[in-house]
Amino acid sequence: MKLEPSTLQIDFKNRRALVTGAGKGIGRDIAVMLHGFNAQVVAVSRTESDLKSLREEIGCETILADLGDPAAARRTAEQAGDIDLLVNNAAISILQPFLKTTIEAWDATMAINLRAILIVSQVIASRMIERGVAGSIVNVSSMAAFQALPDHAAYCTSKAGLDQLTKVMAVELGPYGIRVNSVNPTVVMTEMGKRAWTDPAKGGPMLARIPLRRFAECEDIASVVCFLLSDAAGMLNALALRIDGGFLAT
Ligand code: NAP
Repeated sequence: MKLEPSTLQIDFKNRRALVTGAGKGIGRDIAVMLHGFNAQVVAVSRTESDLKSLREEIGCETILADLGDPAAARRTAEQAGDIDLLVNNAAISILQPFLKTTIEAWDATMAINLRAILIVSQVIASRMIERGVAGSIVNVSSMAAFQALPDHAAYCTSKAGLDQLTKVMAVELGPYGIRVNSVNPTVVMTEMGKRAWTDPAKGGPMLARIPLRRFAECEDIASVVCFLLSDAAGMLNALALRIDGGFLAT
């Protein structure tokens, strides 16, 4: 495809986008931005009131599901229909010191942050291949994939695993024209971010290491996700793309 200036103006007209964890936080901003770029959005989350308000805001389709349940994850992906753009964003973080990390928290984290992405992506990518669609998938990972954060044993492990899953997916799906990338944000003060970083003793040193001297906003992540999903990023594949204001350079 020849890249024209118009290719760089993101337009997802006639493309159907599935966003998981779209009820709150980063996923919600991704859904709203995709809608702004004319995508037909299918939003998945597990709190009905969040989905209702998102429906009222952007007129999207919604699916209420707990993706930690493998059968529900499969059903959700099947129900979503013919998807061209997939954003695997839903995740949890349960803060526990390594020595106190429970089996329940470990299993719940892996079920939502990793297994659900495997299942949803298998269903969606298989359908893309059947339809001959050069789709794009973005997995929302974290800087926690690169950095060992205290109290985040399960979370860090799940995100490092997700980056590797992204690469294997990219290698196997690339020949079908399907691109798969991760984004790895720094702190964003969503409900998840606030739980971990509001305490100045934890958030302060983190902020001090970011050359831009601010945490990320949801739209900082949403704009990069939309770019990666777009044809303008046609040669980007298998990335773990840091959105960290330069944190890891310091
Ligand atoms: P958030 O504010 O906690 O929002 C997460 C969303 O995902 C919520 O709508 C939540 O629904 C949904 N969700 C969680 N588990 C689900 C499940 N089992 N099934 C369906 N939906 C589920 O989190 P966030 O900060 O926006 O995080 C979004 C993504 O960014 C995650 O992948 C996270 O790991 C990543 N990230 C976040 C930060 C940060 O500092 N915030 C930094 C780097 C990466 P309910 O509220 O109804 O449970």
